[in-house]
Amino acid sequence: MMIPGFYGISGTYLLYLALIMLIPLWAQFKVKGTYNRYKQVRTLSGLTGKEVAEAILQANGITDVRVVRGEVELSDHYNPKENVVVLSPIVYSQPTVASVAIAAHEIGHVIQDKVADYKPMRWRHSLVPLANLGGNLSMILIIIGLSLTVALKLGVGITMAWIGVFFMLFAVLFQVVTLPVEFDASKRALEQVTELGIVNDQEHRHCKKVLTAAALTYVAAAVVALMELIRFVFIILQSSSNRD
Ligand SMILES: [Zn+2]
Repeated sequence: MMIPGFYGISGTYLLYLALIMLIPLWAQFKVKGTYNRYKQVRTLSGLTGKEVAEAILQANGITDVRVVRGEVELSDHYNPKENVVVLSPIVYSQPTVASVAIAAHEIGHVIQDKVADYKPMRWRHSLVPLANLGGNLSMILIIIGLSLTVALKLGVGITMAWIGVFFMLFAVLFQVVTLPVEFDASKRALEQVTELGIVNDQEHRHCKKVLTAAALTYVAAAVVALMELIRFVFIILQSSSNRD
């Protein structure tokens, strides 16, 4: 993979590569499995995702957010710029546990934004440009920096690689700040559907399963991002000591 010469292909390295591929795959597998299971389970209330979303919006006095039907499965999201919650076709139109959980979660984000002034959401939002820049720029700086160090024995290469790691930090920070934002939206979702009598006790537990599984993808992304950051710190330290 990335500049294998820096490590040699050791057993530890292969294990590492397997892990960073398997962790996100496993998370995705869990999410899809739980979603597929609970999109078959109809709720007693018979409310669709759209109706649940609108009921929670109304109960919280939010009148300026529209709920619309998206085109792609599992593309549910809240767009704060356009004041729109997009629900995927099945979530939007079917009265199932998965629909209730996912629709309520998205409205959880709306409540964070419009009612609660939830700070981590603001931080996450302000990190977006830096995280995008960092994600793109960091690898370029690290690769060029390390190549300069190895090929030409140039000390400036190490500095360049460290600047790359610094930029990478923003991308990692973004993934980490995403975690409380997602967990909080799910917590609010479960509170709302219970308080408004949209679900019974058993449905509440099932909704919780859907939302816990959904959160796994974010946890996996954060873990992988953090592992990559640590890996590059080690590679640079190693290259730096090889040069000396
Ligand atoms: Zn979310």
